[in-house]
Amino acid sequence: MPYDNEELEKFRLSGKILRETREEMRSYVKENMPVIDICEKVEGTIRTKGGKPAFPCNVSINEVTAHYTSPPGDTSTIPAGSTVKVDLGVQIDGYVTDTAFTVSFNPEGRSMANTAEQALKTATDSIHGGMQLGKIGTLIETTIRNRGFKPISNLTGHSVGRYLIHAGTSIPNVAQPLSLSKVKAGEVYAIEPFVTLPEAEGRVDDSPQETIYRLLKVKSVNNEYSKKLLKHIEGNFRTLPFAERWLIGVVPKEQHKAAFKELLKTKAVMSYPVFIEVTRKPVAQAEHTVLMKPDGCEILT
Ligand code: MN
Ligand code: MN
Repeated sequence: MPYDNEELEKFRLSGKILRETREEMRSYVKENMPVIDICEKVEGTIRTKGGKPAFPCNVSINEVTAHYTSPPGDTSTIPAGSTVKVDLGVQIDGYVTDTAFTVSFNPEGRSMANTAEQALKTATDSIHGGMQLGKIGTLIETTIRNRGFKPISNLTGHSVGRYLIHAGTSIPNVAQPLSLSKVKAGEVYAIEPFVTLPEAEGRVDDSPQETIYRLLKVKSVNNEYSKKLLKHIEGNFRTLPFAERWLIGVVPKEQHKAAFKELLKTKAVMSYPVFIEVTRKPVAQAEHTVLMKPDGCEILT
């Protein structure tokens, strides 16, 4: 087993805090609400329950598929009739769990959200240690297509680890007959089907927008405020993703912008592009983190 009991208990506590937060948030998301309110409510609830956000709360609307969190001072709101994916994570001593749900304010979006939940359930009902990754993809894809929708083919689930959201193994959302790799009992995985309309391309591409960041390398920077920001990032987030919102107040307000820019320019910090469905069709998502067992899985979230 890669994790001992003490470590597994940290994963379980992380998952419990995340599950409770997700369930409280389901009825919170409303049309015309500021997006930043959702991000801050999720992150605040996680902290109140004794966890730390493993990454900034993602609120991705319609064709925006993943990796949008509110930048500082975000004024965007939830459009009427939209489909909203909320993706949240907790870490306890670095042990990461990851979950997501979709709220839709139109019937077709609700049907896509139900399909994503059904595809996730089909996967978690059948998955077990030693199962081929490609077969998990087949199960997810078949469930989605049987309901008249299409999976996003180039987004995947992933193994998680300590201070790692993507720990090396990808879990496909489409059939991959040639992929013979297997999931391993004792490892922890996030499974996350994405569902779009049948006429969509079913792929995402990078958008020019970036709202989530991560430490790449602690290196020497000239600007004293950059140095201070970098120290804060290293001490508080290590290698986990963070939002620029989380850095406000670390250095004087008028120094922040240039100091943060320097960290990106010197590649001490990297950014994640926002993903958009290439044909601009709406997307729904569901996600759980599971502990793989020889004969099944334990859903941690
Ligand atoms: Mn997620
Ligand atoms: Mn994930």
